[in-house]
Amino acid sequence: MGKILKTSAEGRKCMFPHCTHILSIYNHEAYCHIHRAHIPQEQKPKISPHANA
Ligand SMILES: [Zn+2]
Repeated sequence: MGKILKTSAEGRKCMFPHCTHILSIYNHEAYCHIHRAHIPQEQKPKISPHANA
């Protein structure tokens, strides 16, 4: 314990219309894992998960 993990805000909901899926604080995406795959490529934020390594 005592290790600080970088997490997102608690209780965020999936941005997909009508989806009430609560995102994990460890999920930094705007969509749940279900809808992430349904987002057209051009609407995804162009942020690489390894960008700030
Ligand atoms: Zn969703």
